[in-house]
Amino acid sequence: MKKHNFYAGPSILSEYTIKNTADAVLDFAGTGLSLLEISHRSKEFVAVMDEARALVKELLEVPEGYDVVFVGGGASMQFCMVPFNLLKKKAAYLETGTWAVNAIKEAKLFGEVDVVASSKEDNFTYIPKNYTVPEDADYFHITTNNTIFGTEMRYDPDVKVPLVADMSSDIFSRPIDVAKYDIIYAGAQKNLAPAGVTIAIVREGALGHVERAIPTMLDYRTHIKKGSMFNTPPCLPVFSALQTLKYYKQLGGVKVLEKMNLEKAAILYDEIDRNKLFRGTAKEEDRSIMNVCFVMNDEYKDLETEFAEFATSKGMIGIKGHRSVGGFRASIYNAMPKSSVEALIETMKEFEKNH
Ligand code: PMP
Repeated sequence: MKKHNFYAGPSILSEYTIKNTADAVLDFAGTGLSLLEISHRSKEFVAVMDEARALVKELLEVPEGYDVVFVGGGASMQFCMVPFNLLKKKAAYLETGTWAVNAIKEAKLFGEVDVVASSKEDNFTYIPKNYTVPEDADYFHITTNNTIFGTEMRYDPDVKVPLVADMSSDIFSRPIDVAKYDIIYAGAQKNLAPAGVTIAIVREGALGHVERAIPTMLDYRTHIKKGSMFNTPPCLPVFSALQTLKYYKQLGGVKVLEKMNLEKAAILYDEIDRNKLFRGTAKEEDRSIMNVCFVMNDEYKDLETEFAEFATSKGMIGIKGHRSVGGFRASIYNAMPKSSVEALIETMKEFEKNH
């Protein structure tokens, strides 16, 4: 039976990415060696790294003055790298979910943190609006997509201070106005590659203004200067990232991906709103097009386990919601085919008919 992969991350990757990675594990770029055993200094791998960085720039229309780096440590490492490199006195953060909470915790190690707004009281079911970002903040940090709670800021906010964004779970899902940001970072394991690499898009002018000493590995300038080759990069995830980026380019780029994502999300939310058994958990205007969170309506709460088992029997994998929300979460990242979303909708319809 076909499996429909709704895992939140690591998550579904394109067949193109998986197939080309598998081939390169056996023979990388005609070298007669495996991607697993090739030197990162070989000309073949250096070409992979350079092309991957160039394609990120091309697909996201990254302006002059920015650099793209591939680093290790996950998005969680960025929670400390950002304040290490940018926080002089005070930073502003928008608290929209668990990952934002984690980012705030790290920033507090480096200076004053102004949490300008939070939806914590409502279990992060919405994105706060009408907040004021202090003009003396060194930067304002947002999490554009809240993977656990299924809310998303599908716009690039206008603020008077430099913007920093964690785009781990929605990068490449829509065009972004990179010029508005000083740093954009994203763990790869949703819309890009297997776990193990993180990308950061950094405005070079944003660096070099803090007085503290920065450990070499945590200084963005190290990785920029060395073309993401200061130390041994995770070669396989970088190679896979390049495949995904090539695939995105072939499809027509992020505008095309956005259109596909909007369509997939719309049909799934329509079914959640229509079906008497289910309801969405995120406020409608803030609904994520990457992570669709829903629960059983109160009068059908007892059916939760039964629906989970029914969905599994239909090939749906990974739709259990995060423990802090409960219910279900269908992660429908870029690589998720519309046919899998349709299969989930059919499963929901069939389950409703049976009850
Ligand atoms: N930010 C967001 C929005 C995430 O979804 C995640 C992981 N799910 C993280 C940060 C943490 O990423 P990592 O595990 O790569 O440190």
